Amino acid sequence: MSVINPDFVEEMKLFGEDIALACFNCGTCAAICPLIADHFPRKMIRYIQIGARDRIMDQAQDLWKCLHCGLCTQTCPRGANPGEIILSLKRYVVENWRRS
Ligand code: SF4
Ligand code: SF4
Repeated sequence: MSVINPDFVEEMKLFGEDIALACFNCGTCAAICPLIADHFPRKMIRYIQIGARDRIMDQAQDLWKCLHCGLCTQTCPRGANPGEIILSLKRYVVENWRRS
């Protein structure tokens, strides 16, 4: 069972992420991502929104599959910059790995 952390959105601001709440989960980024795997990157953004930190840590290896091609950022209709959110999540994981 995943533990929900309602402060996670605020915590992510320390790692350069402050726009995840703009995402309305349309799935455009997941449709265009060349990884075409398991709703990435949309699912990671949703995990931030609901504070599912444990899910992010459990699936952290997926963050390092990102090619940083920018396609998701270019096509996001909300300007949520999903590519940059993935970078912020990588910074978070590197900093917090030992306490996960
Ligand atoms: S394309 Fe933008 S608004 Fe749509 S799910 Fe991805 S990040 Fe969210
Ligand atoms: S930047 Fe990363 S998450 Fe975005 S479309 Fe490219 S590979 Fe997928």
